Amino acid sequence: VPESLPVLERLHEYEPVAMRGQPPVVWDHAEGFQVYDAWGNQWIDWSSGVLIANAGHARPEIVDAVVRQASSHLLTNYCFPSASRARLVETLAQVLPAPLKKVFLLTTGSEAVECAIKLCRTYGRSKGGGRKSVIVSFDKAFHGRTLGAQQAGGIPVLKEWIGHLDPGFVQVPFPDGFRTEDSSFAGFTQALEANGVAPRDVAGVLMETYQGGSACFAPPEYMQSLRRWCTEHDALLVCDEVQAGFGRTGRLWGFEHYGIVPDLALFGKGISSSLPISAVAGRPDVLDLPAAGSMTSTHTGNPLCCAAALASLELVLREDLAGNAMRMGAILHGKLQALQARFPQIGQIAGKGLVAGVACVHPGTKEPDGDFAWNVVERCVEQGVLMFSPVGFGGATVKISPPLVIHEEALLEGLTVLEGVFSELSS
Ligand code: PMP
Repeated sequence: VPESLPVLERLHEYEPVAMRGQPPVVWDHAEGFQVYDAWGNQWIDWSSGVLIANAGHARPEIVDAVVRQASSHLLTNYCFPSASRARLVETLAQVLPAPLKKVFLLTTGSEAVECAIKLCRTYGRSKGGGRKSVIVSFDKAFHGRTLGAQQAGGIPVLKEWIGHLDPGFVQVPFPDGFRTEDSSFAGFTQALEANGVAPRDVAGVLMETYQGGSACFAPPEYMQSLRRWCTEHDALLVCDEVQAGFGRTGRLWGFEHYGIVPDLALFGKGISSSLPISAVAGRPDVLDLPAAGSMTSTHTGNPLCCAAALASLELVLREDLAGNAMRMGAILHGKLQALQARFPQIGQIAGKGLVAGVACVHPGTKEPDGDFAWNVVERCVEQGVLMFSPVGFGGATVKISPPLVIHEEALLEGLTVLEGVFSELSS
């Protein structure tokens, strides 16, 4: 949009290059699953921001709750709690399954991951001494951009800045059923052995419930074996639900698809559909290990964010948005599979509910085709369907993640655009 150029130019001048790389859409306002700029353009949102707006954009219920909270009291910190913080941790603990009955609030997903790493190692030390400190995670995983989160991540290029990697972080193949040939649990124990890691030295296994870069889920049998393995070796199983939580996958919690419950679950993004807040939920015996006053963070449980999270959760539950994600997801994935049958540029369709990953490849191979994926996103955005830039391996996965309030008509409208774009780009 030419009118947006002066804004983009200012951003380019004053922000670091690292902030670039997205379609040039300057948001003015958004509502439900629609996004508008200031010049009369509108898009069906297939991004939810970055998987934030689970309950929809600018829901009046969330806005009202934030405004009410702001006009009653705006400032607080972790030292002096608010009633809304108490209500939020209580509500989350009530809706989460046992044993996830204590909740620690933070601000970002990365911070929740850092906290989980610290809890795993504290737990490990309490059980096995200094050696029980290894954090096992997965190839191609993304857990955020802070130091520990990136060491636990499985994308080597993102770790280049670190220089000196902690050998206590070990990655094993993610069983994606596409690039990883063997998706059986034997791959997990073999990879540990190959890395010289004894099971008794593992403090925790950290896993995105589905991999954000591809939207791939692991096979349920794999996860059930992993759950048993963690219990047997007294290692904590941590599900990073920063993307998967709060209905996104067609279930309230992503781990429900596997029939397991982790020892710790990490939330962010869609927890509030709006303001920045994250949470570590877990076994009380684990969360209570660090002493009083030892896990502080200034904005922990900020009342504005708590009010937003409470209002968002109420909408997710009352409107059964997980159920809507399941129903709309069936339509979405059905159509995407039909596209895959027609277009050899689609190597894999992954995801569940209202998250899908369309892996673009060079026809006939599994090699990622980032240029093709980028063209798909660009052409969709030009035609009124908003997506962020391609993600994942080779930057070749087109990610579809609309707000969970989207209805069939809008979903089909977007899919018609996507189909037209594939026809155009493959001819
Ligand atoms: N975990 C996962 C699975 C994520 O997708 C992200 C963000 N994309 C994070 C952690 C980090 O969250 P944040 O950007 O809020 O620090």
